[in-house]
Amino acid sequence: MIRIEDVIAKVNENRPGADTDLIRRAYLFSALHHRGQTRASGEPYLVHPLEVAEILADMRLDEVSVSTGLLHDVVEDTLVDIETIRSYFGDEITLLVDGLTKIANISDLSKEKQQAENVRKMVLAMITDVRVVLIKLADRLHNMRTMQYLKPEKRERISQETLDIYAPIAHRLGMGKLRSELEDLSFQNLYPDDYKRLAIEVDARRPELEAALESIKTTIADQLTEHQVPFVSIEGRVKRLYSLWKKLKKQKIMIEQVYDLIAARIITENDRKYCYLAMSVIHDIWTPVPERFKDWIAIPRDNLYQSLHTSVIGDGGQPFEVQIRTEEMHQIAEEGVAAHWKYKESNLGKQEEDEALDQLRNTVEKLLLPLVENTEQTEDSADFIETLKLDLYPKDVYAFTPMGKVIQLPRGSTPIDFAYAIHSAVGDTCTGAKVNGRIVPLRSEIHNGDVIEILTTQNSKPSGDWLNFTITSRARNRIRHWISQEQRTESIDIGRKLLQQEAERFRLPVKKFVNNETEMKRIANEYGLGRPDDLFASVGYGKTLPRNVVAKFLGPEKFGELDPDNQKETRLKTGMKAVKKFIGMGEDAIVVKGVDNMLTARANCCNPLRGEDIVGYISLGKGIVVHNKRCKNVSQLMVNKERIVEVEWAKSDKEQIQSVQLLATTENRTGMLAGITNAIADIKTGIRDARANVSKNDIGLIEVTVEVFDKKHLDKVVSAIEQVQGVISVERVNT
Ligand code: MN
Repeated sequence: MIRIEDVIAKVNENRPGADTDLIRRAYLFSALHHRGQTRASGEPYLVHPLEVAEILADMRLDEVSVSTGLLHDVVEDTLVDIETIRSYFGDEITLLVDGLTKIANISDLSKEKQQAENVRKMVLAMITDVRVVLIKLADRLHNMRTMQYLKPEKRERISQETLDIYAPIAHRLGMGKLRSELEDLSFQNLYPDDYKRLAIEVDARRPELEAALESIKTTIADQLTEHQVPFVSIEGRVKRLYSLWKKLKKQKIMIEQVYDLIAARIITENDRKYCYLAMSVIHDIWTPVPERFKDWIAIPRDNLYQSLHTSVIGDGGQPFEVQIRTEEMHQIAEEGVAAHWKYKESNLGKQEEDEALDQLRNTVEKLLLPLVENTEQTEDSADFIETLKLDLYPKDVYAFTPMGKVIQLPRGSTPIDFAYAIHSAVGDTCTGAKVNGRIVPLRSEIHNGDVIEILTTQNSKPSGDWLNFTITSRARNRIRHWISQEQRTESIDIGRKLLQQEAERFRLPVKKFVNNETEMKRIANEYGLGRPDDLFASVGYGKTLPRNVVAKFLGPEKFGELDPDNQKETRLKTGMKAVKKFIGMGEDAIVVKGVDNMLTARANCCNPLRGEDIVGYISLGKGIVVHNKRCKNVSQLMVNKERIVEVEWAKSDKEQIQSVQLLATTENRTGMLAGITNAIADIKTGIRDARANVSKNDIGLIEVTVEVFDKKHLDKVVSAIEQVQGVISVERVNT
């Protein structure tokens, strides 16, 4: 049985100065908690984490990874919880163990044939930290190596998952050796008959193939030496069973027709020119097969693989492949991302180490995300991950466009952030969003793996309200920029209107005053402002009173003479703070404090009722819009404090009728509607509309639209309805 000292010896050899005490502590902890557990083979469970740790040590990973290898199943398979791990081993190991535990939970669901979705989830989880991927792969490799003790069904399921998920990930990460072993083990377990048949077929040829390889290797070595091409080694191999099987099936050919059943590999010293030299030597010995030459050195594969491939016709007419690469390229080809650890000096500072990890993480992201992007979406991607609470990577979430492009956003982002991340024009014209096919409010938080479709409308504009639920600076800057621009335009308009009205009061020709560029510029300068527009904006924002602008225009003497307030008997001593009356929309009188002759309108959102507390908001086009103080929109409008004006209901000579919609919640019994309408009629109140419904949970819902004079009247109606037997509650709709 493997011992911890073997693992530690490897770590010491590969990474001198590593913290082996940490590994020892992890070992003791793992041994303590897995105590008494056994594997399917009957061995103590501890063998598994130990073997995984050894694979990681062989990969030359750091002590944190090796320790995590020892601890990776503790949370999953014992009573230890993640917080205990944290208290013993700190945040770094905890994050890794947590990631691995979550991936284990996803695997359990893969029976459902949701492989595509699973790949996506796995990848999202793995991007957390490169080491999560590497440890998971080591874990899987050991499980695959010891699968003979499991029941056939379980073997099949795990093998299928390995082929679908882990082998492709290993491939993407350039880990050729690990991938090959995973594939061959899966193949063996999934298709035992095919495997046996093919193995027999290849074994029958093996002596002949090995002999051919030997002679090829000797020829190459002689020729390279003769031409003074420095090489490290020459290897020969018979094609792996799984890739041979795939090729036979895909191309529907016989084993004799396989070009690369055997291959030679030349590992040169670390200079790419030796590769090209070696190739010319090879092409000199044997005739190359046209169009079978590939230069992965000049153009490396995505997964960083570099090599020259060429096929030549052998002495006996049998074609074979030759791969040529440097020692360094070879290591990358075998170990992929894991090879990067070799170059990590063990004397790096913490910060440099973090940077190196970050860089590695970016590489892994680049390699793995395409795997996810190409994944087809399945029907139930809607509640994907959300149910799994895959909140591994604490800072970011990954969402997808309908085309499968990954958008990375900080956690807490909403569809508006997403829209701006795609393009500012998409953000500016966003009017809605579908998440996983369902329309959602724009303030909904985005979760890992959401597929988001942004709905846009031409000429639609950003809303200041969005600032309450966007977190990316890109989105916020665009929205703020837009609002300040919009507000300024609006303010200039309002300011100009206010000045025109003031001019009318003073009976000044607009041409001479507001429309007189020179005069306006002069007054603007007096206020320390640059252009007439700045002056209008200042008036529009309420910083400068229109009356004072007129005073500056006329001069004190003429101003006193023309001031209409001086000519009125009912002159008000409080000056501009005076309360002035005017009629709004011909329906209701509303008093607005401090502003003259502005149009007013009742806000549609809350439809304020005479007697209720109200507040005014200066808007462009509609003048002053009057809201109920309790209206939800008011709190948002308060952002622009300078636009809020005090308003109150004017005393009115005759009573005015207004329709108000009420919703009564009642017990579900007969006669409720009649009871309520009678109660309303009893207090001599008009009913415009009434209808009854029953909700799913057997509650009566009665909507009535009543005609009332003011709030007091409405209160009376509400209390009359409340007194009807069976009524549970009454509320006003739309406030
Ligand atoms: Mn395990």
